[in-house]
Amino acid sequence: MTAAAERYATQYAEGSLLSVAHLTVAEVAGILAMTTRLEQMSPAKRSQILAGRRVALLFYESSTRTRTSFELAAKQLGATTTLISDKSSSIEKGESLKDTGLTLRALGAECIILRHNASGAASLLAKTSKLPVLNAGDGMHEHPSQALLDLRTMLAHVDGGRRKTDVNTRSLDGIVVAICGDILHSRVARSNAMLLPRLGAKVLLCGPPALLPEWASGLGPGVAIERDFDRALQQAQVVMMLRIQKERLAGLEVDLADYVERYQLRAERLPASVVVMHPGPMIRGLEIADEVADGPQSAIEEQVSHGLAVRIALLVRALGVHA
Ligand code: ASP
Repeated sequence: MTAAAERYATQYAEGSLLSVAHLTVAEVAGILAMTTRLEQMSPAKRSQILAGRRVALLFYESSTRTRTSFELAAKQLGATTTLISDKSSSIEKGESLKDTGLTLRALGAECIILRHNASGAASLLAKTSKLPVLNAGDGMHEHPSQALLDLRTMLAHVDGGRRKTDVNTRSLDGIVVAICGDILHSRVARSNAMLLPRLGAKVLLCGPPALLPEWASGLGPGVAIERDFDRALQQAQVVMMLRIQKERLAGLEVDLADYVERYQLRAERLPASVVVMHPGPMIRGLEIADEVADGPQSAIEEQVSHGLAVRIALLVRALGVHA
């Protein structure tokens, strides 16, 4: 074990997933292999795996896909779930994240899935609660389960799915993934830009300077900036579109007409072989046109299905069960 991995292991409960940076490629491969095993299992057998276990979903920010898929994942495994949202709990009265975590633990929660608007919140909760914590998006920092489901979606598409098994550092060799839009505020872009190059992909970030600062190319080896969307598309096998995160713009002005002209993904600029992805929520008519979102190259709904499958495995891993 490296010194960093040892430090991580002593600070956070085993099974936590706080950041893709903490995952080795072998662990990524293990999670994806477990995802497939659990997917192939009979529903009756799967529903016994976490029978009697308690999972808390703690959501300080809105969510549709992530929250529902974690909840349905826990239920498919037989676990009991409870949802705490900032709108209807003591969080509204000013209770701290630490105290909320300790309260959930005292009530018997064995794992907490956290979405929070502050970067670093998941690590803080994991340190203070000592429970396994799954980061379901923390501010502008990371969204590790999204990066894993995106990876699984890509692996199902490249080479007709031939690279799906035995995931290793070369699984995405030769694959260029263009990520276009509001990179600055996107935890999805960050997690993907850190994960995909470790499997051999090249990530091309695309967007205007206000939403894609120059420093973003330093997110890691294998990450570069290409401001011309058409040039990025010509090189890519996969394009991931991101919405403009209005809730985080904080005074930043974006000329929407100009943005649509330069960066909207519409049929006329989409090369025939490129797979289209989007973590959702999509703002149709802004970053993506209807004909592309609903078109034959779209893997957007598939991403949602992979999300459920991957989150089932992450919960099993978090609760320390061998499946
Ligand atoms: N659903 C993703 C997230 O929570 C992307 C987005 O909100 O635009 O980060």
